[in-house]
Amino acid sequence: MRFNPKARLNTRRMGDAGRSGASRSAGGGIPIPGGLAGGGIGGVIVIVIIVAISMLAGGGLPGGSSGDYDTSRMSDTGRYEGCKTGEDANKSADCARVAVENSLYDYWSDALPDQSGTAFEAEQKVETFTDGIGTGCGSATAAVGPFYCPTDRTIYLDTTFFDDVLEKQLGGPDGGFVEPYVLAHEYGHHIQNLLGTMGRVKTQQGPKSDAVRLELQADCYAGMWAKAATSTQDEDGNVLITELTDDDIQQAIDAATAVGDDRIQESAGGDVDPESWTHGSAKSRVKWFQTGFTEGTLEACDTFAAGAL
Ligand SMILES: [Zn+2]
Repeated sequence: MRFNPKARLNTRRMGDAGRSGASRSAGGGIPIPGGLAGGGIGGVIVIVIIVAISMLAGGGLPGGSSGDYDTSRMSDTGRYEGCKTGEDANKSADCARVAVENSLYDYWSDALPDQSGTAFEAEQKVETFTDGIGTGCGSATAAVGPFYCPTDRTIYLDTTFFDDVLEKQLGGPDGGFVEPYVLAHEYGHHIQNLLGTMGRVKTQQGPKSDAVRLELQADCYAGMWAKAATSTQDEDGNVLITELTDDDIQQAIDAATAVGDDRIQESAGGDVDPESWTHGSAKSRVKWFQTGFTEGTLEACDTFAAGAL
């Protein structure tokens, strides 16, 4: 994939906590299923999602804002300051992350109100870190993989996850659509948070549980964005992401496949302590990503209404 070199990047919602030193996992850490020995990316990609289901079970959003959570503690190393244009995004994985965030933000700030009447909240952030970080959902240690914390509306990315696992395994910053796909999936959880969808999750176990439907819906939302990112033209007739090939998409979906069982935090406040989680079959995840890509509507992504997943 390739970004439109002329695209202007906005780093306002990007933060990097750097190497905090907090919660450094003294050899413990969280095991990655399958380990690295198995070869390939299978089993080494772990996407971690934090969903404060219990917090949201009563419906609606907690407190109506993130005002009760102190985001000022987010330090910033200035990691993204140099990211100005799509050209930068083509040269740097960090700037590519900014470009994808910008695209997700632009897409959903239109699509969410247009399609649902729900206001798009501008408070969300993407925060990268190394080793460990304190979040509104508790502290996360190294290598937990990406997750979304509803409490502070932030997508957290341990970038060593991408550096060590995705980029090296998949061949550098051009490792394709994998990280954008992951970001788009996590962003899908943010949309669900704004829509109050997380409060609909009543059943946690089994392939047709609400929890699986929530995950498949996030895949569908990722597909919605992917379609727009590759087809929506700016005033000069350029799209943000060009050269997104079928292979790129397949690679991303293979990554999702490799995730297999995801891990999830069921309640806010405690340390991040992932547990095994059924995420839907690979076949279902592909299907729902493609549904979002093809149909492009929240309605089409209503995995809760679908009889067969
Ligand atoms: Zn998820």
